Amino acid sequence: MRSELYIDGKWVKPIKGGTCIVTNPATEETIQTISAATAEDVNVAVKAARRAFDKDGWPKLSGAQRAKYLRAIAAGIRVRQADIARLEVLDNGKPFPEADWDVADAAGCFDFYAGLAEQLDNKPEETISLPDDRFTSKAVKEPIGVVGAIIPWNYPLLMAAWKVAPALAAGCTVILKPAELTSLTALELAAVADETGLPAGVLNIVTGSGSVAGQAIIDHRQVDKLAFTGSGPVGSKIMAAAARDIKRVSLELGGKSPFVVFDDADIEEAVEWIMFGIFWNQGQVCSATSRVLVHEAIYDRLLARLVEETNKIKIGNGLEDGVLLGPLVSKRQYEQVTAAIDAARKAGATVACGGTRPEGFDKGYYLRPTVLTDVPLDSDAWVEEIFGPVVCVKAFKTEEEAIELANDSRFGLAAAVMSKDDVRTERVASAFRAGIVWINCSQPTFTEAPWGGYKESGIGRELGRWGLENYLETKQITKYVTDNPWGWYIR
Ligand code: NAD
Repeated sequence: MRSELYIDGKWVKPIKGGTCIVTNPATEETIQTISAATAEDVNVAVKAARRAFDKDGWPKLSGAQRAKYLRAIAAGIRVRQADIARLEVLDNGKPFPEADWDVADAAGCFDFYAGLAEQLDNKPEETISLPDDRFTSKAVKEPIGVVGAIIPWNYPLLMAAWKVAPALAAGCTVILKPAELTSLTALELAAVADETGLPAGVLNIVTGSGSVAGQAIIDHRQVDKLAFTGSGPVGSKIMAAAARDIKRVSLELGGKSPFVVFDDADIEEAVEWIMFGIFWNQGQVCSATSRVLVHEAIYDRLLARLVEETNKIKIGNGLEDGVLLGPLVSKRQYEQVTAAIDAARKAGATVACGGTRPEGFDKGYYLRPTVLTDVPLDSDAWVEEIFGPVVCVKAFKTEEEAIELANDSRFGLAAAVMSKDDVRTERVASAFRAGIVWINCSQPTFTEAPWGGYKESGIGRELGRWGLENYLETKQITKYVTDNPWGWYIR
């Protein structure tokens, strides 16, 4: 387990010597003490990233040359996949098979962007047809520069990959700040990158708190772009900081995503996807489908099966075989989620199952998966992101009502619909005001497809070719190609 900062190709102690304690959420034991960077460390990291970008030639390498490093990072992650996944479980609490999936996905993300980096070399020049034949013009793509990437704790390595891989592929250099709760696998990523011989300064990892290390990154005048995944309130701060010196900014924020189930859906399939949509990763998923709308004709039967299956989920330490629900990430998160359930009860909601600590767990931030019904539409439980294993289920009568309820949110990250009628699912998919729509499923995520939200769920798109474009500027190059003088001032 690493504990130092990774700056300019070296492992260094923070200048002011600060530390953060890392706790295993399954046992509440300290597993590591890591470095807490301050503005001084961030400044050194930004200088290194600047030099790597402006002088050392990272953006001048061909896409194929950069791709070699990305593929080597992917291979390095795969070599240590099981160890990194285990570390993710210790740090975040998620069940091992989920962590293993994330780590494989992170490696896949580096390979995917290696492919896009190679394609940058072979892209034909985009010529622009002009109405004046004395000029030719073309548009070229160039890397934005130094990127400050700030990520949350729910998918620690994967969120790092979603930002670092496209940024490096584009030719940018990066300062990555992982969440203070879960920095261990980002440090492993630095170790893997270091072993590939990645030039110094191209990737820097600074651990520490959001208010100190994170704030120093977003305030730094020499950072060209901020790429953020996290909560709405911090997203607003990041946008405000970006506004000061017109930094480029992309934000992936929270959600309160709906899942509409029509009466022709197979109830077993619906229950499976509803559970996957809210209990995977203990519901600490930005795109979790936490508001389930079920046609009244199947509501009672579906709810009964949902409660029955939810009560069977095996809860425990993510390293134990067969565990499908681990602890929440931290004491604070546990307290926030249980407070949200209490508030829902007080607002009139019924707890159909869960809502309490599972029996036999004295230590660890464990919470039984929870199904809420009769949730008032104006209550926080229906409106606000809970970010835990808590789903609200409600009946609807008509498609029109379902769409209205689904879209009645300030968020617009994801939405799901289930029905055997393909015309209906397409119609509903098009009516959803959300950046990601799932038909007959919820949550499957592919590196190739765009990811991001409408409304308060964010700005910009990650993943796929859109993820690469996040880190590219467009430059117009226009040439005067005739021998005839321009003849405006000098005739
Ligand atoms: P958070 O916003 O509290 O923290 C995210 C990151 O921002 C952390 O690294 C934190 O240290 C940093 N940070 C905090 N204050 C900062 C500041 N003033 N300046 C700079 N950085 C600062 O979010 P969280 O609690 O870690 O994550 C949960 C939230 O993330 C949820 O709302 C969830 O929906 C969202 N999320 C969204 C996506 C998505 O793709 N849309 C994915 C995962 C999580």
